[in-house]
Amino acid sequence: MSISKYLGLFSLSRKFTADGLRILCYHGFSTSDEHLFRPKLFMTRDLFKQRLEKIAKMGFTVLSLEKAVNMLKSGQKLHDSIVFTLDDGWQGVESIAWPLFKEHNFDWTLYLTSYYAEKQTQVMNVAVSYLLWKTEKTEIDLSLINGFTSDSNLRSTKNDPNSLADELIDFAESLTTAEEVQSFVGSLASILGIDRGAFEQSNLFYLLDMQTIRAMYESGVDIQLHTHRHNLGGNSKSGLETELKENRDSIQKFVPHRLEHFCYPSGIYSKEYLPWLAEYGIISATTCKPGLNYVTTPLLELNRFLDGENISAIEFEAELSGFSEILRRLRGFLSVSS
Ligand SMILES: [Zn+2]
Repeated sequence: MSISKYLGLFSLSRKFTADGLRILCYHGFSTSDEHLFRPKLFMTRDLFKQRLEKIAKMGFTVLSLEKAVNMLKSGQKLHDSIVFTLDDGWQGVESIAWPLFKEHNFDWTLYLTSYYAEKQTQVMNVAVSYLLWKTEKTEIDLSLINGFTSDSNLRSTKNDPNSLADELIDFAESLTTAEEVQSFVGSLASILGIDRGAFEQSNLFYLLDMQTIRAMYESGVDIQLHTHRHNLGGNSKSGLETELKENRDSIQKFVPHRLEHFCYPSGIYSKEYLPWLAEYGIISATTCKPGLNYVTTPLLELNRFLDGENISAIEFEAELSGFSEILRRLRGFLSVSS
């Protein structure tokens, strides 16, 4: 990559792909050690600051999502343009990303998933995985969890933490209320030897509260749809509509205009969702597929680059310059022709 940069391939790529809209995707920001736990999901302030400085230095034009989508829709050519999108609405966005965006005067869109923002309990599946990652205990006695039944109660936390996490998450999903789920998360922390009070009172794995999101909107931040419970509601049109309606109702308590932009939770979708979204009045939807966006890119399948703590400075620059896009196209071409 570095050699390509110094050979001038980055700047050539940039000229060649200047009309391709770059949409960047971020999630949470690390307020403690989250970036070590999930580097794709949580970024440090330092790195995010460097990213914004790099974009400013490279002279890209930061557009609002709405403006960029309107330009693509009307067939207007874009030039060196970037859109910032942040998914979910994690706590760290308020203290880390928001002030940095303000410093640069950059527009950005927050795709909010509203359930945990309303409930103000910790995002259970991420919290459970974190506790298993964090614990120094090598074994857990599952019989200590109220209501949990298992054939083998004494389990290793280190041998196969993902399947243990899945089991615990399935159990928590069978609980009825958000309070019961939070109580389970808290007791799991205690069982794993982690200070329950400190964990529950930290910023870790909470989403922004609706009051803060309202303040963001009032300061000019664009808030858009990401479903209520971070899923597409099963494989049905009515399930999707329920998720969109609850999400929209939650945000439209303070956003007066109609919400028309959407982001697929975890980037998961299939073609059958496209007409359902269009019928619901959704104009654009972003995926997690890397790539640039042109007037020919379907607006309900916009490409995005997922930036994270795992992405090196040179990889980031390769993506911004369009060099990575050209490599992807070449790979696609070679795989078709071989
Ligand atoms: Zn999401």
